[in-house]
Amino acid sequence: MPDYRKNKDLKLLDLVKLQQQLDSSEIYEDEDGNKLQTVYLGDIRSITPSGKVYTPFAHSNVKPCERCKGEGTIKNKRGKKHNYKRAIKRDLQLTEQAINKHGCYMYWSTNALRKVEKYRKQQEHWQQYKTCVECGGLGSLEARLDQDFWEQLEMELDEIEAYSHGSESDGCDVMVSRSVD
Ligand SMILES: [Zn+2]
Repeated sequence: MPDYRKNKDLKLLDLVKLQQQLDSSEIYEDEDGNKLQTVYLGDIRSITPSGKVYTPFAHSNVKPCERCKGEGTIKNKRGKKHNYKRAIKRDLQLTEQAINKHGCYMYWSTNALRKVEKYRKQQEHWQQYKTCVECGGLGSLEARLDQDFWEQLEMELDEIEAYSHGSESDGCDVMVSRSVD
């Protein structure tokens, strides 16, 4: 399984082929009267990076990330509590000032935005823990690769106005549908 986060040009699906499959599949109506075409994409256990079935908030059966030992965060070597707190304080002060002066966030001046951004960066720099880059904070590289897989899938299917979903018969089926006008 390639890492889609690191290879932005990689494609998961053959959209031309998938579209042909959709074109030649039967049009049916769902219970709401929507006309749809659906094809079977594959089994979760064979198409996802981890090959495992789990709910997004229970990563119990996926391997913990080796880098952060499953914590999702790693200790920031240059972290300094005092500086971190000071940066938060300045951030809040400047945010309050900007709201009083400009109102809603979208009306802030470039200068005000830049000032706040500066202290946001400082917070990141000084905080004691930082998000593990390997697992993206999920605590598991498998889970992160799976998440990327689903995002990538959704993004590519978007291009042909299709979407993925499960099937009623089997919890491991991944189906692709699109609506027909
Ligand atoms: Zn990690």
